[in-house]
Amino acid sequence: MMRRHSILEVNAEVLSMLGTPQPVVLLDIDNTILAPRGAEIDSGVAAHVRQLSQDVRILLCTNNLTDRQRRVSETLNLPILMRAMKPLTWWVKPWLKQHHIAERDVIVVGDQWVTDGWLAKALRCPVVLLDPIAEDTHLLTRLLRRVEKRWKL
Ligand SMILES: [Mg+2]
Repeated sequence: MMRRHSILEVNAEVLSMLGTPQPVVLLDIDNTILAPRGAEIDSGVAAHVRQLSQDVRILLCTNNLTDRQRRVSETLNLPILMRAMKPLTWWVKPWLKQHHIAERDVIVVGDQWVTDGWLAKALRCPVVLLDPIAEDTHLLTRLLRRVEKRWKL
């Protein structure tokens, strides 16, 4: 397991450290590349994922099933498995097979240990665990509030 703060810190070089020769990234959406209240994917994040997809194959994998996730898939022009039921592999395994992807080539990238981490465990593949986007936001908000308070003093 590897930890990084954000998807922006994940590139082909970082992924190569996990020792998977031809990695295929199973990329989570919510709180990994899409903020919980964001209607659209951040343009900087989208640009980064597009760049990454030139070096490694990326498939989106979400437990959700709404237009927000679908739109991310359209924006990035990447295949998506919705309602994946992570960490269970009932839908993920057949879907990988359908895309001719060997489980040993997969690297799961996501923000939640109980879904993304356990999925990786079940697939016996590496996982890159990121900080959830929302926590970052909260942290920033808290920090800003502290700064505001000081200004008032
Ligand atoms: Mg997530």
